[in-house]
Amino acid sequence: MRKLLIDPYGRTLSYLRISVTDRCSLRCLYCQPQGMRVSKAPMEEILTFAEIREAAEAGAELGIRDIRVTGGEPLARKGCPDLVRLLADIPGIRSVSMTTNGLALKEALPALLEAGLTGVNVSLDTLDRKTYERITGKDALKDVLAGIGEALRLGLPVKINAVLLKDLSLENAFALIDLARTQPLCVRFIEMMPIGAGKDLAGLSCRALTKELMTHYPGMVPCREKLGAGPASYYEIPGFAGKIGMIPAACGSFCSRCTRLRLTSMGALRPCLSSEKEVDVKEILRSGKDRETRMRLLQAAYKRAAEEKPQQSTFGSRPQPECMAEIGG
Ligand code: SAM
Repeated sequence: MRKLLIDPYGRTLSYLRISVTDRCSLRCLYCQPQGMRVSKAPMEEILTFAEIREAAEAGAELGIRDIRVTGGEPLARKGCPDLVRLLADIPGIRSVSMTTNGLALKEALPALLEAGLTGVNVSLDTLDRKTYERITGKDALKDVLAGIGEALRLGLPVKINAVLLKDLSLENAFALIDLARTQPLCVRFIEMMPIGAGKDLAGLSCRALTKELMTHYPGMVPCREKLGAGPASYYEIPGFAGKIGMIPAACGSFCSRCTRLRLTSMGALRPCLSSEKEVDVKEILRSGKDRETRMRLLQAAYKRAAEEKPQQSTFGSRPQPECMAEIGG
């Protein structure tokens, strides 16, 4: 019989987000803005590609089916397509996708596609060049749009992820949504989480935005079919090629449907983004024990992480993790 990872609340965990680096090429103001002191792990503390593959293999034996490569900025880690290939080749893995800021996407796409990447989420909060620079610290909107355009041209499924900063206008959201008018991509809005510099910034709720959108786009309705392996709920607008998604990350309303575990770049399994609980796997990977023993211990570590998964995220009620770039957003 196939082994599965089931947490104490009956959720089957099948989705692993892997942070491949804590380094990032941007300084987004809700994550680790310029001026914020950020401690970077020494490179020897970061898992190697072979270690990440081994950890993912152990997960796949327990029913992990979907992997997302993230960071930090995954494309800032040299040889990232090689890692995608190592992960896509694991028996039982059906998708390997990536979350990226898109800066280096265009150049990396041929190698990523060849390696077996199945989809890309590009973080993009605005289509206004000056606002983009204000949020990210870099005048690089053009590069991000080039990456998105190329991914679509090559037929890779694309989602745009925009953080709901309170000081951005509704027009900002309408402009992003307009990308889905003629192109088959999903534009998704994520609530600001009290992590990193996001602790001190005001966000807008998905509920409030949805209300505004329903008025602005008559006929906008929830999608009937379940889309994607993640927590977003999707809407369609008549005549639009793409879809709109909402990720109410701060209010935790999707926790009952959460199927995720996270593997940090430092080699720890995290049961939930909102909690600092971790199960160390680097220790096992570097124990010098034979492969069979390591696999057995790794599987035990996954089961422990599943047991530690809280029923509900704990944003607001406990000290929050330092920064998304460290855990893997
Ligand atoms: N560098 C990659 C990128 O930009 O997509 C992957 C890592 S980044 C930490 C992943 C996502 O987390 C991005 O979409 C970013 O906007 C989001 N993020 C970072 N801090 C956040 C916060 N406090 N609240 C909500 N989303 C946040």
